[in-house]
Amino acid sequence: MNRKKIVAGNWKMNKLYSEAVELVDEITIALKDDEKADGIVKILIPSFPYLRKVARHSHGIKNMFTGAQNCAHEEGGAFTGEVSAAMIKSLGVSHVIIGHSERRSYFHETNEDLKKKVNIVLGQSLTPIFCVGESEEKRHAKEHFAVIEKQITDSLFHLPATEFAKVVLAYEPVWAIGTGLTATSHQAQEMHLFIRTLIEKKYGKETANMISILYGGSCNAKNATELFACPDVDGGLIGGASLVAKDFITIIHSFPQ
Ligand code: PEP
Repeated sequence: MNRKKIVAGNWKMNKLYSEAVELVDEITIALKDDEKADGIVKILIPSFPYLRKVARHSHGIKNMFTGAQNCAHEEGGAFTGEVSAAMIKSLGVSHVIIGHSERRSYFHETNEDLKKKVNIVLGQSLTPIFCVGESEEKRHAKEHFAVIEKQITDSLFHLPATEFAKVVLAYEPVWAIGTGLTATSHQAQEMHLFIRTLIEKKYGKETANMISILYGGSCNAKNATELFACPDVDGGLIGGASLVAKDFITIIHSFPQ
């Protein structure tokens, strides 16, 4: 399968500026002559104030990109405190996380809000990393597939196939994010296949087979190998473990050879 293999590090609201510079330096120095990592897409996703610096430091490393953790739901104007997709793009950034569960729950972002953001991000030729995930309660109620289907349908399925094909998806069960609880490789594969089948029904096999679907939720240097061995898991969106250069590099090396 020719899908892109991707490891993205979501630094969230961590690191002071000097620490962020140190981390990007450690990662880029390690990756400079790392041929094993060349074919893997690597995305560093720091806070807004560090985007330009991280983008500059990543420059020259093969398949290395910078992403933002969020963007405004409007294109521009009187929205104090917000950062537009166009501003993000102007910093040399290529990816934007949309719909992270922390945004959905703490900032009450709805599927409709996220649909708007997807349109704005694609309109700037940026790549959305669109996150979906069910709560522990929904999984116990066996409603996890329905939740994921609705999140994808409501926010993405209005897109024409050519635009949809530009999206990266991330399955992040809410109960696994930052908790140390990881989905088993069986649970991850089952959901990733469900998502791919859903895409196939809407856009056809070719599109479904080219979409990268990342797993996120306590993925770390120890469990990445097992998760990345699943046929429909195309990499990871990594939170905590992406803050330690050595662990992030180990995760990048965790794809089957
Ligand atoms: C995330 O926030 O996207 C995430 C997966 O976090 P963690 O790896 O810390 O669970």
